[in-house]
Amino acid sequence: MKRIIIAIDGPAASGKSTTAKRVAAALGYLHIDTGAMYRAMALKVLRAKIEPRDKKKVAALADSTTVRLVNRNGQVHVVLDGMEVSDEIRLPEVTNMVSPVSTVPEVRTLMVKEQRAMGTDGGIVLEGRDIGTIVFPNADLKIFMRADARERAVRRKKELEGKGVAVSLDVLEQEILDRDRIDSERSVSPLRKADDAVEVDTTHLSIEQQVEFIVARANAIIGNGSV
Ligand code: C5P
Repeated sequence: MKRIIIAIDGPAASGKSTTAKRVAAALGYLHIDTGAMYRAMALKVLRAKIEPRDKKKVAALADSTTVRLVNRNGQVHVVLDGMEVSDEIRLPEVTNMVSPVSTVPEVRTLMVKEQRAMGTDGGIVLEGRDIGTIVFPNADLKIFMRADARERAVRRKKELEGKGVAVSLDVLEQEILDRDRIDSERSVSPLRKADDAVEVDTTHLSIEQQVEFIVARANAIIGNGSV
């Protein structure tokens, strides 16, 4: 059976990760969270005490960096220079500096090369900001997820509360909007919907509905491809 490439892009906290993970599980595909890779680079910048807007220093650091996603027993681990960093990359300090770090062309070149290598054989669901436009412009199925910023903040707040972290809704909404602005306005690979992507507004959709919609689209393509 044909094993396709599915690209899921969209702004911060639009539900990409949960959806992509479940779509991948439903199809028996690999799930690649490309945001996790940029977060690993941001963690390295944080640890090196480099100012994230100092593009030259960030580029030099990227030069000697390896970021890999390693699948162990169905769990994806983020490995930075040979060390597991899956938990640290979710720290709020990392979240707040990942967007400026992701504007640096050398950082993007490094990540895109790795992502393309992982996807060559298909059977993969990648989520990020530039998958359908830059990483896999020929992806078989492209989805662009959107949701109101307030709704995204509400979801992120619930997720953080589940981990015992209390943050104000207004602060979360502002952080989400700030990240979207930097991600959309950068000159290299900005966040934007590919012309041939299917737009899914998840503001009033459940995770189950989103997953069902994407899996149905994927099955239609896989069915067509195998005729
Ligand atoms: O998806 P997540 O919110 O974890 O992504 C963190 C950040 O990584 C984004 O805000 C963006 O700056 C960057 N990113 C990117 N390109 C991707 C995925 C993520 O620039 N393909």
